[in-house]
Amino acid sequence: MTVKVRFAPSPTGKIHVGNVRTALMNVLFARKAGGRFVLRIDDTDLERSTKAFEDGIRADLSWLGLNWDDSFSQSARFERYAEAAEQLKAAGRLYACYETEDELERKRKLQMAQGLPPVYDRAALKLTDAEKAKLEAEGRKPHWRFKLTGAVVEWDDLVRGPTPIDTSSLSDPILVREDGSYLYTLPSVVDDIDANITHIIRGEDHVTNSGAQIEIFEALGGKAPAMGHHPLLIGADGGKLSKRLGTLSIEGLREEGVEPMAILSLLAKIGTSDPVEPRHSIDALVADFDLGKLSRAPARFDPEELNRLNARLLHETPYAAVKDRLAALGADGGEGFWNIARANIERLPQAADWMAVVSGEIAPVVEEADYLAQAAEALPAGALTAASWGEWTNALKEATGRKGRALFLPLRLALTGRPHGPEMADLLPLIGREKALKRLRGETA
Ligand code: GLU
Repeated sequence: MTVKVRFAPSPTGKIHVGNVRTALMNVLFARKAGGRFVLRIDDTDLERSTKAFEDGIRADLSWLGLNWDDSFSQSARFERYAEAAEQLKAAGRLYACYETEDELERKRKLQMAQGLPPVYDRAALKLTDAEKAKLEAEGRKPHWRFKLTGAVVEWDDLVRGPTPIDTSSLSDPILVREDGSYLYTLPSVVDDIDANITHIIRGEDHVTNSGAQIEIFEALGGKAPAMGHHPLLIGADGGKLSKRLGTLSIEGLREEGVEPMAILSLLAKIGTSDPVEPRHSIDALVADFDLGKLSRAPARFDPEELNRLNARLLHETPYAAVKDRLAALGADGGEGFWNIARANIERLPQAADWMAVVSGEIAPVVEEADYLAQAAEALPAGALTAASWGEWTNALKEATGRKGRALFLPLRLALTGRPHGPEMADLLPLIGREKALKRLRGETA
């Protein structure tokens, strides 16, 4: 049996770190098993789904390197869903209901007032053909509910272990609306059957749904795939992540210059007991991956942790891997430059700031003009090399009696315009004599 999994986003918005974590788990699961990964676009909601969101999802996944072996959209498969609905009707498992939203709401309120769970009372099952005809003559159109068995459905969840859902505590789910449109529930099952999906890996918010869907798989003559429901992401403060999801869209992170592998390295590990470490390829994440390692508690997503991981990843990144992107940023200063700059940036675009220090223009920060003038006089003759900084500052130390911060900081501020950064011994040869002398005089150079 070839493992086949799917990621099934609805193109009704941008994808964010929470969706991508689900996609990543599916990709890692497939790769580990030598299986296939399918991208399914859940666009049965024709009003809210847009082509632009779909394109965005594909672009984001591609940027992350989460490539799919196969892809299809639910909107191309309405005929199959209609067939499945007919099959369920013929088997007496899909029944017509005529209550309006208001009527249903009233029933729920009444049940709650009596201390009963707000489960649909199946009144529609008792309607005679004549009563249905009368309702339809009044202009009512039916919506269609799936008749659950009322049994306890249990599966051995890949994350949660044995998971029982008592379907007698659920309302029969509506599969088809009055206007003939499908809710997500039935199309998903039909697609999983037709695409031979072997494992469904998705968020914990679908657990109850799975109880009903397993019964639909069986009612259609199939067998439900194996299932794994992972706990959802929460914010670093333990609060809901959804409030900040706007800023945690993949598009947003890409625009901010975050590395795809920093995002994936973090998402692969949070919620497990494995340490969070930078990994440079998806393949490097596969070996450690195991759904059984996921804790049952929600996973905390901390943007600060992402920043730190991004910095660590860049510090280990070889020049060849970023050369083209550096060039696009106007920050390709060669391998020597990258090896110096990379330990001092959190995001790749910041390399451009160091590029300006070595070969662009900066406004020097002048704190002690006299000292800087003396330093300019003492700059070693000839080409500046890796040894020049040591020679220069030793000479200044002797001449001025300065040491430590008082000796070094004014030079750094003048030469780089900032108080921290790479070793000055490394930077000085790249800055060169001409710029160094100008900056020591306080001139923009
Ligand atoms: N479109 C559904 C969602 O995003 C898919 C759930 C599933 O994986 O079945 O929640």
